[in-house]
Amino acid sequence: MEFTIFFILFIVGIFIIITLFNLFTVKSKQLTPVPTTVTFDGNKAVSHLSEAITYKTISYKDKTLFDPVPFHRFLTFLHETYAQIFEQLEVEVVNQFALIFRWHGEDASKKPIGLTAHYDVVPVLEGTERNWKEDPFGGKVENGIIWGRGTLDDKTSVIAIFEAIQYLMNNHFQPKRDLYFMVGFDEEIGGEKGAKAIVETLQAKGVQFDFILDEGGAIVENMVPGVNRPIGVVGISEKGFATAELTAKGSGGHSSQPSNPTNIGKIARAIAKLEEKQFEGDLRGPSKQLFEYVAPEMELGMKYIFANQTIFKPMIENILVKKPSSAALIRTTIAPTIFQAGEAANVLPEKATAIINLRLMPGDTIKDVKSFIEKTIDDPDVQVSVTGTEATKVSSTNGWQFQTIQQAARNVYPEAIIAPYLMFGASDARHYDLISDETYRFLPVHITSEDLNRMHGTNEHISVENFLNAIKFYIELLKEVNK
Ligand SMILES: [Zn+2]
Repeated sequence: MEFTIFFILFIVGIFIIITLFNLFTVKSKQLTPVPTTVTFDGNKAVSHLSEAITYKTISYKDKTLFDPVPFHRFLTFLHETYAQIFEQLEVEVVNQFALIFRWHGEDASKKPIGLTAHYDVVPVLEGTERNWKEDPFGGKVENGIIWGRGTLDDKTSVIAIFEAIQYLMNNHFQPKRDLYFMVGFDEEIGGEKGAKAIVETLQAKGVQFDFILDEGGAIVENMVPGVNRPIGVVGISEKGFATAELTAKGSGGHSSQPSNPTNIGKIARAIAKLEEKQFEGDLRGPSKQLFEYVAPEMELGMKYIFANQTIFKPMIENILVKKPSSAALIRTTIAPTIFQAGEAANVLPEKATAIINLRLMPGDTIKDVKSFIEKTIDDPDVQVSVTGTEATKVSSTNGWQFQTIQQAARNVYPEAIIAPYLMFGASDARHYDLISDETYRFLPVHITSEDLNRMHGTNEHISVENFLNAIKFYIELLKEVNK
């Protein structure tokens, strides 16, 4: 008896010692900021973004609605505003509206790096025009706010990159390695003619990047419980995107004497089983890394748990799956989006189908997803087909590339924690994986969660301060790259 108590106390003691050791030895992964001293004419830069917003460079899902006129006019505006860049850098036009700029570096043996952004925007949803406080294409600047479609996604990046290049040229910056700037024009509808064609063009020339930086995660508040500082999240991978179709077929007889289950019943049961079961949450890959970067900056209680990620893994996963936003970080998600069957109130449908939208974790293949669905619904009468793309490769956080981005971000936003993460949405960046060793996704602005909803929604806007900080970020980044 006494021995047992002693043994239990011994184990508990060891546990406490190990976990406290982990707590007190967890080291910050944040680089020391060297606060930026860059200064320039902010009003001029703001007037450029304001004008950029006025061009209705809209990408429509229905491609027949494409209007080339504003795209031509936007490019003319870029050319006139940044004439020096167009004259001094090598420029290539792809598919009429996409641009590749190359700034030759001193050392041709070094792999180039590339910045990319897109100037197409999503349309203003019909019926929501009146909810806008300002004209979405007016480019109004008032009380330190720039209004309009594209101020967050993604004309701010386009203009900030051009302003940064212009600043560096004015200050006699000489790149050590080749720098590329790529401007896409159809990101919102998949980037086939923009980013994808740019990649094919560069690939044909044998260009291989050391790293690419595209739009992506921003600097946000209240992202992780127990952290009261803003967190800047740099996407190091994008989740995959797949569509599963479930079908049940066959005559169900007459509705006055139905067989059981009916086609609708079979599909309904299948969906219910999937929602009940769910893919298993697993804290791994980019999401695990997010917490490794954030843990050292947490308040004591949360820090204790997250500094001991390995020991408390099941507990952490349990907490994370409870909220949809954090559940999506650790598992492939299941979202039934279309349910179709039946036409008349007194006829049993011969066919019932359901469409499920899935977002795949890195490592989960289309094959895995299909067999998970089949196993879970366990019904030979329901046919399952799955099509889509898997998650992108996961870029490294150990090399100089991620650190360069972190350093530049910290120089402009010294209070922010800069951490890797997993992006849920798709961006142009995934096309660049083909020709880039590492691919990162970061929008260098400090925004709120309401701003995130405004991105493809109503009242999209950005503060002048954020826009100017974005310019500073790209300047700092290119200076860091030169070190
Ligand atoms: Zn975008």
